[in-house]
Amino acid sequence: MKNARDCGRACQFIAPDYAGMETLIHGRQRGTGDERFFGPFQAMYRARMTSPAAGAQWTGITTALGAQLLAAGTVDAVLTMVPDAQDKWRPVPALITDAAGMEQARGMRMGYAPLLALLEEAQERGFSRLAVIGIPCQIYALRRLEEALGLDALFVIGTPCSDNTTTENFHRFLALLDEDPDSITYLEFRADYRVELRYADGRVRMIPFLSLPISDLPQDFFPLTCRTCVDYTNALADITVGYMGGEGDQWLLVRNARGAEMLASLGDRIELSAPGSAGRRAGAVRGFIANTARAAGGLPLRRMPDWLRPVVSWLQPRTGPRGLEFARARLEMKAAETILHLRRQMPARMKNMIPDHVWRIAAPYDLEPQPGERQDDRSS
Ligand SMILES: Cc1cc2nc3c(=O)[nH]c(=O)nc-3n(C[C@H](O)[C@H](O)[C@H](O)COP(=O)(O)OP(=O)(O)OC[C@H]3O[C@@H](n4cnc5c(N)ncnc54)[C@H](O)[C@@H]3O)c2cc1C
Repeated sequence: MKNARDCGRACQFIAPDYAGMETLIHGRQRGTGDERFFGPFQAMYRARMTSPAAGAQWTGITTALGAQLLAAGTVDAVLTMVPDAQDKWRPVPALITDAAGMEQARGMRMGYAPLLALLEEAQERGFSRLAVIGIPCQIYALRRLEEALGLDALFVIGTPCSDNTTTENFHRFLALLDEDPDSITYLEFRADYRVELRYADGRVRMIPFLSLPISDLPQDFFPLTCRTCVDYTNALADITVGYMGGEGDQWLLVRNARGAEMLASLGDRIELSAPGSAGRRAGAVRGFIANTARAAGGLPLRRMPDWLRPVVSWLQPRTGPRGLEFARARLEMKAAETILHLRRQMPARMKNMIPDHVWRIAAPYDLEPQPGERQDDRSS
């Protein structure tokens, strides 16, 4: 990138153009039905690797896709994150050139690191066929730079991402969860309303979301950019690998022919089935919006009485939204957060930062744009 203008064009958080970029990458904008929530896709699956990979966040589909591209000689390198040598939770960008090397990338680490900075090194090393694994803000910038990179081939594997934070903040969160935070080796916010923790000695602990110390976290624990992200599901990737719609398995969104080609390359090493959907999301989303409105207005979160928490924690996975309905609920919650936090903290930015797809999914919850808040209002 040469100047501030280029940075502004590449950054998802300044004036994103999702409608234009979806058309450029996938040949069309997102349509109706579930595409309103998840972005353009040609197929959607519940999925798992037949033999789950040790150390993977779920079953290792993401790193398996990268490894397969390297093993087949389709790409020269995979650009992704590996753990820092001193801090296993800190992501560090790396260019991986052999399939076996993908093993070190497995797992989720909370934090930010300049993934795309290594594009320069990739060019210096003569890599013209690349795969990139990244979270949505990284993939948006990559797509904006793609043409200028002049690569012979680019394969983009995305994961969803919500509420990332600094690795330092993440360590503080771990310390609230356990008096020996260093012994925690794995953390995931599961789709059954529980956080799963794994420990170095093999123990596993499940904590219901309602028992998490979220209200003990400082207001700025999650930066405003993450709280107002408009691309939870990584709509510009060729294939998105997540878990939200997977009911305990992984969840795949194949977005274009290149994504389909990557998935097919895994053959029978991956099991695919149709994603399920159950429950009704509207009540859960409304409750979340009411609490977010309080938090955005500087008021304390409404805490559930202690006696009620175990009851609701028991009910949530059984009666709350599940499968695709859970994923839709999370997308609606994210859209509401974007609108409420920006309206409170940076109202002048709303017309640049909020694409129409966000307004459309927030509309059933009476979150309509006010004058000057829509992207069409930019010139006025
Ligand atoms: C901060 C964060 C929040 C997420 N939130 C959600 C969510 O709300 N819903 C959902 O469905 N999925 C979410 N994901 C994705 C999810 O955690 C899994 O990574 C994904 O489902 C892939 O699982 P896997 O077993 O296929 O991954 P693996 O095969 O284990 O590979 C994981 C890949 O993720 C990369 N990675 C790890 N940490 C980072 C990071 N900080 N930045 C960039 N890349 C990284 C690794 O380098 C590796 O390539 C999130 C991921 C991150 C990093």
